[in-house]
Amino acid sequence: MDSVKRLWKDLTPEAQTAWLAAHGEPAYRLKQIREWLWVRRAVTFTEMSNLPVAMRIALDAEFAAFSLNVLDTQKAGDGTRKFLFGLVDGTTVEGVLVPAPRRNTVCVSTQVGCPVRCVFCASGRGGFVRNLTPSEIADQVLFACRELGERVNNVVVMGMGEPLLNLDNLLVALEIIGDPAGLGLGARHVTISTSGIVPGIRRLAEQEKQWNLALSLHATDDEARAQIIPEGHRFPLEEVLAACRDYREKAGRMVTLEYALIRGMNDSSQEIQRLGAIAKDLRAKVNLIPCNRIGGKLVPPDRAEVRRISDQLDRLGVQVSVRKEMGADIDAACGQLRSRYETKPGAIPAAEE
Ligand code: SF4
Repeated sequence: MDSVKRLWKDLTPEAQTAWLAAHGEPAYRLKQIREWLWVRRAVTFTEMSNLPVAMRIALDAEFAAFSLNVLDTQKAGDGTRKFLFGLVDGTTVEGVLVPAPRRNTVCVSTQVGCPVRCVFCASGRGGFVRNLTPSEIADQVLFACRELGERVNNVVVMGMGEPLLNLDNLLVALEIIGDPAGLGLGARHVTISTSGIVPGIRRLAEQEKQWNLALSLHATDDEARAQIIPEGHRFPLEEVLAACRDYREKAGRMVTLEYALIRGMNDSSQEIQRLGAIAKDLRAKVNLIPCNRIGGKLVPPDRAEVRRISDQLDRLGVQVSVRKEMGADIDAACGQLRSRYETKPGAIPAAEE
């Protein structure tokens, strides 16, 4: 992929139409290009065989049809596939594909690095580099469809980055992947995860779409949360929960509370009791996520303890699930493959914040 080329899909429809007009091409070519990109999942202009050759050459000289370049792939025994994507400027992000008989899920990234820097997360370690463009986000879904040879039916925006700190681009990407003339993925099949960016949650609620919202809660009061989510992009818990309540009412969707279990940090029975109270008040479900071991400092509770926590929430009348460990034999945790790649000799160097 030529690093100086712009991404065609990042042009607005008006800009695309203007480009066609400037090259003496009729407006209906736009529909043809769109079909190639989103229905036939083309990654180059040269394969668009019903376009005039001169037009394909002109498009190819100026634009890239696809934004991702696969640098590394890992496949786990359970079928989970993790990809390291190179972007046009040499930066990298990760994507995960979890194939299942009736529900293929793709986990997409929204930023290169992450400014939030949660203590358990490898993505935040290298700092924030830049926001992904709409096409870089949407192309991760398209790539998953190409890999599977069929349409993906579940998208979780839980990869690298804080999605609500790149909301403008995410909204455009969601519009693209929801377009019935393209991938046509309904809002109910999309889950957006946030560490609790209050203005973003409120703006998301105003869209009045039925996306699922997942809040990374991780602790039940501000003091404990400060140990996990550093200062900078952390909002007072009360404001975060009020925004989630507003989202539930406007979107008509139940919110999920994601809770990364870290042994000795947030797994006491008092904390789980408070977690249950928050979930009941918000009428939310809880997803327990035994944390990944990164650097040996943070460890998850053992299985029996996770079971005890799950049972405690269950007895409180809270809908609870424990995230199945997908891809246990690969670097499946967010940011791990990228950080490993960046320490390989000759790899693209990690950008500084
Ligand atoms: S968990 Fe999410 S918000 Fe926190 S540092 Fe990682 S990518 Fe960013």
